[in-house]
Amino acid sequence: MLIFIGAEKRLSAAPDLKIGEQGVLIENGGVKCTLAFPVPVNEAKAKAKILEKTVSETGAILKYDGGAQIDLGIQNGEISMKASGMPADTWTLFFAMKVDIAPVVNGKWQFDSASGIFPVQETAGQIYQGNAKNFSMVSPVGPSVVLSLPSSAYQQLQDLRRFQVKAYYWQCWLPFPAGTQNLSIKISETSGEVASPNAATAAAPVSAPVAPAAAPKVPEDRQKWGQLTGIPEEKKTGTRILKWKGGKQAAFLLGFDDCGVTHLTNVIPALEKRKMVGSFYVNPGSPQWKKHLPEWEEAAKNPYVVLCDHTFLHLGTQSVEELEADVVKTNAIIYALTPQLKNPRIIVFRTPGGVPWKVSAKERDAVLAKYHMVNRPWLDGPPLTMKSLPPVLATVDRALAKGETGFVDFHGIGGDGNSSPVEWFVALLDKLDEHRDQFWITDTVSWFQYQEERKKSQLKVLPSDVSQVRVGLTCSSDPAYYDLPLTLAVEVPASWKECKVTQGAKTWQATAAGGEVRFDVLPGADEIVVQPQ
Ligand SMILES: [Zn+2]
Repeated sequence: MLIFIGAEKRLSAAPDLKIGEQGVLIENGGVKCTLAFPVPVNEAKAKAKILEKTVSETGAILKYDGGAQIDLGIQNGEISMKASGMPADTWTLFFAMKVDIAPVVNGKWQFDSASGIFPVQETAGQIYQGNAKNFSMVSPVGPSVVLSLPSSAYQQLQDLRRFQVKAYYWQCWLPFPAGTQNLSIKISETSGEVASPNAATAAAPVSAPVAPAAAPKVPEDRQKWGQLTGIPEEKKTGTRILKWKGGKQAAFLLGFDDCGVTHLTNVIPALEKRKMVGSFYVNPGSPQWKKHLPEWEEAAKNPYVVLCDHTFLHLGTQSVEELEADVVKTNAIIYALTPQLKNPRIIVFRTPGGVPWKVSAKERDAVLAKYHMVNRPWLDGPPLTMKSLPPVLATVDRALAKGETGFVDFHGIGGDGNSSPVEWFVALLDKLDEHRDQFWITDTVSWFQYQEERKKSQLKVLPSDVSQVRVGLTCSSDPAYYDLPLTLAVEVPASWKECKVTQGAKTWQATAAGGEVRFDVLPGADEIVVQPQ
């Protein structure tokens, strides 16, 4: 049983466990693996064979040659195993698990204190081998799965791509001391979605017999970005703030780094044609920028171009003072080029890659906070982390399937550094266009504002009657910077069609359908009144 103390804590859902024919399917926010049923191994290192298995929704009864039986169950985020008839020379229980590559590639793996990145490139040898009690997989967009064993065990992690299998392969030999009857593996996650210090405890099963996993720490900037997945909706019906603006099924962010000339020639016209916005992480001191300054000045006025700070020169930074001076200089240019937009406002920053960077994330964030900026963590896109078109297009399907945020970060397109083929870019835009109605295609500033406001908003249904429905929507974030309307769904009598919505001095029309009316509204002190017309 899970105990939730407050609504916020509901966000750290445990990974989903399902029994399949071959083992336990584990899934969390896209991270997917199949843990094969355990196999007893004897002192001669011979593996027992499964002679018979009876699989149900909640468990499996496994009978092995040599007389052993394991009754396996999934409950409370735990895989429990009750062993009987184990031969006296049983040495270990062997576990193997395939981990789907796409969701975790470029994310983090961790065995106790040893950690690394799930390699983008095919790896020939072991990624890891050694003894550890915990194994965790963290997707680059946040969701994670942590396996906590009852004791330290020899574990290995390999890459199966050299065998034409798109998976990483984990193996574990769990010690099986004589007389062992009950064993369990705890499957949990570290939610980075909420910074709430209680989130981890709230998600832990009350009856957990093992200590909480030494879960990997999710960097704070990822927490701040809600893991880019967005805050789950608490409910699917009734009066609520919708997960994505416009009530869309998923969100999508298109990013373009390093202000290459191909952004001017190939990207912006394509975005404009499709009315899709892109976030451009620019270096306004760089030669490529200066060479095309008039074009960038023009681009800055384009509503489909959002300029973000990627440092003045993309040469790295040696000190906090240098970073601060850089931010001031770069932002001054961004503000000067965008007189049509609010000043000050939130500006998104992305740390340049591949250059010396001598300030910590904490120091960087302190500088950014001073100038109302937020750091956009990670980068995912071709040609750096996606080597062909299918993974680029898969971001769209994945976002739709999960109702989450898809994102692709490009550098050059059809030229410039780290170039991707124009065809890949166009194919992605075309695919997004096909699913246009389902996506909120947005820029990183708006995305971040929506998340923050939604997180910090209070929605209250006030006393209502047949003639009007009243709701209150207030938000604790600073309205000077967080000024993106949220999309509300308000429950109204089923007979209502055309409605008048009033908030203070403002009124507008909205159409109800199926007992619900949806509209965009800024949180504020004035109550919102919906009346039929
Ligand atoms: Zn860059």
